[in-house]
Amino acid sequence: MSEITESVGRLIQELTRLPGIGKKSAERLTYHILRVPMQEALSLAEAIRAVRENVRYCRVCYNLSEREECAICADARRVRDVLCVVEQPRDLIALEQTGKFQGLYHVLLGRIAPLEGIGPEQLTIDALVERVRAGGFTELIMATNPTVEGDGTSLYIANQLSDLSVRITRLARGITSGSVLEFANKEILTDALTGRQAF
Ligand SMILES: [Zn+2]
Repeated sequence: MSEITESVGRLIQELTRLPGIGKKSAERLTYHILRVPMQEALSLAEAIRAVRENVRYCRVCYNLSEREECAICADARRVRDVLCVVEQPRDLIALEQTGKFQGLYHVLLGRIAPLEGIGPEQLTIDALVERVRAGGFTELIMATNPTVEGDGTSLYIANQLSDLSVRITRLARGITSGSVLEFANKEILTDALTGRQAF
């Protein structure tokens, strides 16, 4: 190990922090970066910097955005009385790819997971409740993942809003229980949306 330079060691260590990257992969990536043209390597560094500096959460729905409001919230063609609640921006992208949902979204940025110490206050649930209480929505589609934690999160939200007249539905169970929305294919997600049922 003593022949690894300080900079090489540092990059390997940084890459090892990434999900799914072990020591071996981090080393492979580091030596790859050392071999590619300087411009290509710097372009990667610049992309990492830009994504962190430019991307923020939409102030309305918490989707990823490079402006105060995301492209969906700002789109006048969207149906504004149906709200779809998802755990992560990547779930929103999966649903958008079906092309079957025209309403608005609310991204929770996680799910309630007591065993990991994640409570409702760490998510965007307060903002969601406030948004729905402000009025204008006729239906709330709970599109959390069909896992114990996803279901529990939806139930918690439904309870918070039970005194309102807004209809609360959830995706049909075409998605196998325990599976994850972002990996479901378009057809399954479309069926889940069209076959949604009362919560
Ligand atoms: Zn938005």
